[in-house]
Amino acid sequence: MRKLFAAGSTALLAACTPTPEQTSQSRPSFEAVRDADSSIKAYYRVAGRVEPVAESVCRSLHADKTHNFCDFRVNVNNDASQAPNAYQTIGADGRPVITFNVNMLRSFRNDDEIAFVFGHEAGHQIARHIEQTQANQLAGAVLGGILVAVGGGDAQIGVDIGGAIGGRGYSKKYELEADTIAAHIADRAGYNAAIGARTFERTGGSSALLATHPPSSQRIDQVARTIQVINGAKAQGGRAPVAW
Ligand SMILES: [Zn+2]
Repeated sequence: MRKLFAAGSTALLAACTPTPEQTSQSRPSFEAVRDADSSIKAYYRVAGRVEPVAESVCRSLHADKTHNFCDFRVNVNNDASQAPNAYQTIGADGRPVITFNVNMLRSFRNDDEIAFVFGHEAGHQIARHIEQTQANQLAGAVLGGILVAVGGGDAQIGVDIGGAIGGRGYSKKYELEADTIAAHIADRAGYNAAIGARTFERTGGSSALLATHPPSSQRIDQVARTIQVINGAKAQGGRAPVAW
């Protein structure tokens, strides 16, 4: 993270759901399923299959954008003091960066969950949520003032402000849109989107994808509806277009 910002990224950092408050000394409480090394290995393995699919979907929908717009960078934040989280930013080179922190990775129960959340973060880029959120910010409608501070270029401020923005998260509408895109991407990459979306079911922990907002049941329903559309098209020998 520090490196990302130090490298000159002044992008809006929007975590997917509110991040529980904690001090840097405290250990985040979450259910660790596996150790850091094996979970990071699994992440790169799954991302290796999902990123090309996300990139292809992105390019098919954004032919007018620069090459970098759909060229996802796969990143890990190794800070073990952070509560589980995943987020998408824009690097200094204009490429979208998908970052999972190590505790998020340790909390995944299977590859389908990793694939789904990766697709979700890519979905925020594909649906241009950062752009739209920044536009809202410039209009002073949502997070007035914060973008200006982030644009100031101080690395530490960037990190702190990023946390502040992360605490607010995206709108519920954007999260559901990203979930819809995630279902398409996970399925096309050969993962089970329904199993992946069960990452929302976990309760009592601090996973950023636990989704107190929007409610996890709403997210799971949204994914189930999308899977119906995907499977309906498959049954007719076709492929459902990625729409949200
Ligand atoms: Zn999200």
